[in-house]
Amino acid sequence: PSTSLQDIISHAKEYGFVFPSSEIYDGLQAVYDYGQNGVELKNSLKSVWWKAMTQLHDNIVGIDASIFMHPLTWKASGHVDGFNDPMIDNKDSKKRYRADQLLEGKAEEYANAGQQEKASALLAEMGRLLGAEDLAGVRELIIAEGIVCPISKTSNWTDVRQFNLMFSTQVGSVAEDASLIYLRPETAQGIFVNFLNVQKSGRMKVPFGIAQIGKAFRNEIVARQFTFRMREFEQMEMQFFVRPGTEMDWYASWKEQRLKFHKAIGLPAESLQYHDHEKLAHYANAAVDIEYKFPFGFREIEGIHSRTDFDLKNHQELSKKKQQYFDPEINQNYIPYVVETSVGADRLFLAVFCNAFTKESDGEKERVYLKLHPALAPVKAAVLPLVKKDGLAEKAQEIVKSLKSSFRTVYDDNAAIGKRYTRQDLIGTPYCIAVDYQTMEDDTVTIRHRDTTEQERVPVSLLKEKIGYEVSL
Ligand code: ATP
Repeated sequence: PSTSLQDIISHAKEYGFVFPSSEIYDGLQAVYDYGQNGVELKNSLKSVWWKAMTQLHDNIVGIDASIFMHPLTWKASGHVDGFNDPMIDNKDSKKRYRADQLLEGKAEEYANAGQQEKASALLAEMGRLLGAEDLAGVRELIIAEGIVCPISKTSNWTDVRQFNLMFSTQVGSVAEDASLIYLRPETAQGIFVNFLNVQKSGRMKVPFGIAQIGKAFRNEIVARQFTFRMREFEQMEMQFFVRPGTEMDWYASWKEQRLKFHKAIGLPAESLQYHDHEKLAHYANAAVDIEYKFPFGFREIEGIHSRTDFDLKNHQELSKKKQQYFDPEINQNYIPYVVETSVGADRLFLAVFCNAFTKESDGEKERVYLKLHPALAPVKAAVLPLVKKDGLAEKAQEIVKSLKSSFRTVYDDNAAIGKRYTRQDLIGTPYCIAVDYQTMEDDTVTIRHRDTTEQERVPVSLLKEKIGYEVSL
């Protein structure tokens, strides 16, 4: 049986990966908390990304900018005027939808029915209308396509309105002049406004990159599909500053490098694909998504955008501070062009979790386990004494102590050993180390491998080498 999103949500909750936020108050829509195992998996994803982007590139460094930024930042970036989604309500069900998602859903229906041309034509028409800000036209298209409200099955639609996705709040006390500021909807702008600080203090030479991991906030109109679309989420972004005219080569190179990364952390090639944008964002001259095959279809996990000098040029204009770089190789000043890679930590988490979730049946018994890359597993090794008596428990504790400074190792002596293996399978622990009577004689243990359940006998002294947990990037 294929895995449903509901299987994923239930497993994530039951085994301490993801909980609905403030659940005792019935939760808050599109906001989630990571539990004891989820936080380990998410932290591992972030550190593998950080290593891939910074440590392995001589010319990429990291920063950690604030969530709050000067309000003009968002004017310059185009978010105040343009970061909108087209919203439409169904008058009967009083349910709200994104007009573009309704049309994309219809196009997907055509595609699934083998009508690829019709699907493409519809997407192209939608892109044209949205590009021209023809919201009445978008509504007419929804009606002409016979799209009905999934809940009420009626097509009684309101007008389409643009909805700005930025959250705002006030800074300063009420008595003083409080001014409106935004929660950042992307981390990229924190990089752009620090471009010259990093370039000068780090004596960076173009081409170079700045990477950042941090929270972003979007007041999404429709927030379903678990951690795929959240109102508070985390992004891992890298802006690569290049000489104008070379951006397409870098774009092609990053497109390739980023796909390799997703394969390296264990996502299978057949579950990944590129998707070129029909409609380019206001800042881009080329854009591609890397999509993963979720239980609800192929969807974006990462965006790679050639952003030209759009951001730096606008910051220069509004701040009145030059955002130029002097290129000693060609003896010229210019505003660099930017190629961006942007991946959501939570979306990547969901992709990795969906991919790992495995249900196997031999006709009699069903086995559920998480086939996580060992580098990502919340627990790398569990040490299990066969029985508690005769010094086996103490021996097992001693092994835990010798391993736990290298990687996360746990001890478990509760219940029959089979049950303990299952417990580790469910959270994706790649190695279970069993301590038995033979251990007491010859200082060997068995390692049980999660995916095959095969066991091998190894000397305690070789455990650390036997347990592989690096991603080969
Ligand atoms: P979508 O079209 O799905 O709304 P987007 O194209 O607006 O996404 P970008 O602005 O390119 O997304 O953001 C880069 C990455 O940030 C996305 O690929 C995704 O992984 C992540 N991301 C964006 N919005 C959300 C969200 N609401 N919840 C979780 N992750 C998100």
